[in-house]
Amino acid sequence: VIEDAAALTAAGRQPHLVAVQVGENPASKIYTNMQKKSCEAAGIAYDLLELDDAISQDDLLAEVQKLNDDAGVHGIILQMPVPPQVDARVVQVTIAPEKDIEGMHPENMGRLFYGGGVVSPCTAAAAVALLKHTETDLAGKEAVVIGHSEIVGKPIAMMLLESLRESPTVRVCHVATKNLALHTRDADIVFVAAGVSQAIWRGYNKKKKAGEDVAVPSLAPLISGDMLKEGAIVIDVAINRIPKGFDEDGMPVKNEKGKNAMKTVGDVDFEAAKEKVGAITPVPGGVGPVTVAMLLKNTIACTKALA
Ligand code: NAD
Repeated sequence: VIEDAAALTAAGRQPHLVAVQVGENPASKIYTNMQKKSCEAAGIAYDLLELDDAISQDDLLAEVQKLNDDAGVHGIILQMPVPPQVDARVVQVTIAPEKDIEGMHPENMGRLFYGGGVVSPCTAAAAVALLKHTETDLAGKEAVVIGHSEIVGKPIAMMLLESLRESPTVRVCHVATKNLALHTRDADIVFVAAGVSQAIWRGYNKKKKAGEDVAVPSLAPLISGDMLKEGAIVIDVAINRIPKGFDEDGMPVKNEKGKNAMKTVGDVDFEAAKEKVGAITPVPGGVGPVTVAMLLKNTIACTKALA
């Protein structure tokens, strides 16, 4: 990426990525900080367009259209989540497919079915690249993907099925799956992308702030060590920002600055799993940085294709 960015810059076309963020979100913040640092390190120009939480859908689409029309911009990314008045799908379809470095446009998604195009969805591509890095022979293996979102779970499943003869068998689990352990316990490969602890914490926090009398919930990881097979490969995609602990009033314990002491964890009990599995990605520091690398790779690919 560094070499390609330098060559393009020397030819007067420095790759330029713009991330669009509507409102604030802790997980998104971690991601945009990583994007900025990585772009700087790679010689790619990076801008974060921070828009008001209350922006209307039409105004947001107009901002995206401006970026589509700007010949100096080669890649556009919409940070998720977006506030309720915004329909992310409509925004994603508005991003020009040739600048869609997240690979989320239906045109780019459709290409996944045919074995890839110029870009592929970054997080899914990162998760699958990490699996491939283990050099495991995938034919005949059992793979389970937990989470079936458009951005992560579904494209991971599609990418795993790319090879006609050497793909693993793929099962996709989601919120309506009754017995997750039934699927994970015999899986050779487990991708986890649900973000369950974060969702539970958000729900609890909302009720607590509204003055409801609620019991402190369990924020234990979705996937415990005993749900995994000995020697399995585990790719934990989830990013959960949750309190380190609670005091007796059910409020998060504070850090030295008097703010809620928070930690970033995945969906897998890393400490228990690492004693048992063949390979596992940590959170933070696993899929996240590789996702950023994929974003940069896609930015280079789009800059070249736009020439
Ligand atoms: P999403 O909310 O769109 O989808 C969550 C998925 O999890 C859904 O398919 C849902 O059915 C499933 N799910 C929810 N509860 C479940 C349960 N109890 N059991 C099984 N499945 C359950 O989320 P997303 O955008 O796909 O993101 C998933 C996670 O990955 C989040 O934690 C997010 O922060 C993280 N993420 C990480 C990166 C990265 O770069 N590392 C990028 C994007 C998302």
